[in-house]
Amino acid sequence: MPQNKKIIDGRAVASEIRLKLKDKIAQLSGRRPGLAFILIGNDEASKAYVRMKKKGCEEVGITSHVLHLSEKISERELLAEIDHLNSSENIDGILVQQPLPKQIHTDKIVEAIDPKKDVDGFHPLNIGKLLLGHTDGLVPCTPLGIIKLLRAYKIQTDGKEVVIVGRSNIVGKPLAALLCQKQPWANSTVTLAHSHTENLAEVTKRADILITALGSPGSITAGMVKDGAVVIDVGINRTMNTLIGDVAFAEVIEKASLITPVPGGVGPMTIAMLLSNTLKAFS
Ligand code: NAP
Repeated sequence: MPQNKKIIDGRAVASEIRLKLKDKIAQLSGRRPGLAFILIGNDEASKAYVRMKKKGCEEVGITSHVLHLSEKISERELLAEIDHLNSSENIDGILVQQPLPKQIHTDKIVEAIDPKKDVDGFHPLNIGKLLLGHTDGLVPCTPLGIIKLLRAYKIQTDGKEVVIVGRSNIVGKPLAALLCQKQPWANSTVTLAHSHTENLAEVTKRADILITALGSPGSITAGMVKDGAVVIDVGINRTMNTLIGDVAFAEVIEKASLITPVPGGVGPMTIAMLLSNTLKAFS
């Protein structure tokens, strides 16, 4: 548990969620939920992510299967593997670890996954449901994990200015869609900033809650943060042998009221939400 009361402990919140999932799964009669990972090639970061996610599955009682395919696999062959998993009765969730090799069109692969098994929540049908505020879809794990983290720490979002830096389809855009839902756990005034945003520091300084997902190590400095803001750092940047976030942590913690560390902030929540989405897909 982090000693500093300003630090949001994503590991502790994720661990509580995993315990609840484990209890629910232990009470199931019959088969356990099943999650299939498709891992392509030998990218070390991708292998590490799949290992961590698989370990999460083992902890809560989800049966996981890793399909490790060659870097040279053709799009047709990959689509055939997905077809097979779509129709497999023991598989409730399918996760294709990105990035994919150049010969594969990522959009085509995401769209080939049965939306009911799309535990990453990236399928256009699930993204559409999210935008419309329907609750029966699967929501992308990192944005969902951030909402859960804000709720666990009782951080008020209703009526607050939230600035998200980064407009990716997996973090920024779905997170913006969640935070502007007409719900007590959202209802925020959302600004989505990106590399074309003018006067970024002026924009980020408006934020009661600042969420950074740029992939640029330490680039959000104290001068860009309002006094007392809540700062959620999604960035995971590998430098030498360590992981650091997008936020210059040592200086920003002095201004923030609450802040997530990297590692140990958003990352563990992403994995917990993958497990939660798998149980939802099973149910
Ligand atoms: P991405 O697809 O590379 O998108 C980055 C976004 O940041 C883009 O919208 C880009 O703007 C914007 N951006 C880049 N540099 C900027 C700058 N200097 N000023 C303003 N905006 C800037 O990234 P992603 O996949 O969302 O990932 C972002 C970071 O989060 C990465 O470090 C990634 O590893 C991490 N991540 C962490 C988790 C987790 O579980 N903690 C999950 C997913 C991702 P343009 O659109 O204009 O190019």
